[in-house]
Amino acid sequence: MTDTVWSFASGTIQVLVALVAVGTFVFYVVYERRARKTQLSAMYLQRYWEISDGLLTDPKGEQAHTHHVHRLLILTEDEFDAARSGLLDPNYWEKWHGWIAHPSQRETRFHNLGLVHAKPPDFEHLRECLGDPELKISSAHTWKQCPARQTI
Ligand SMILES: [Zn+2]
Repeated sequence: MTDTVWSFASGTIQVLVALVAVGTFVFYVVYERRARKTQLSAMYLQRYWEISDGLLTDPKGEQAHTHHVHRLLILTEDEFDAARSGLLDPNYWEKWHGWIAHPSQRETRFHNLGLVHAKPPDFEHLRECLGDPELKISSAHTWKQCPARQTI
């Protein structure tokens, strides 16, 4: 009788220890993944502000300003790649994408593409997000609805 109780208690303890170990491992993996997304998102944000500072200090029309516009387009396209791969913090990217895709920014984005003489397929994700430049329809959408998210 005592051996049976002891055997049952020992087996239960082993199962509980195993469950705690698995739970700790899963928590660590989820925490680590989330921390990496936050870290990468913060890096993109820092790069954005560096480029934005350049846009403010170098006057429009100068080559340096156009260079900053080109850097911003490259950063944006790179962020689309990172977001499509699930490497960015979804809250951060949803806000960033909302700003990129906002109809009030659409004309500026196409102007910037022209400023750096970009031709398709350059900046293909940004172009997919913005839609056809000839259509004057609203391009407002969420990241879940974004055409740039749908294609690979
Ligand atoms: Zn979009």
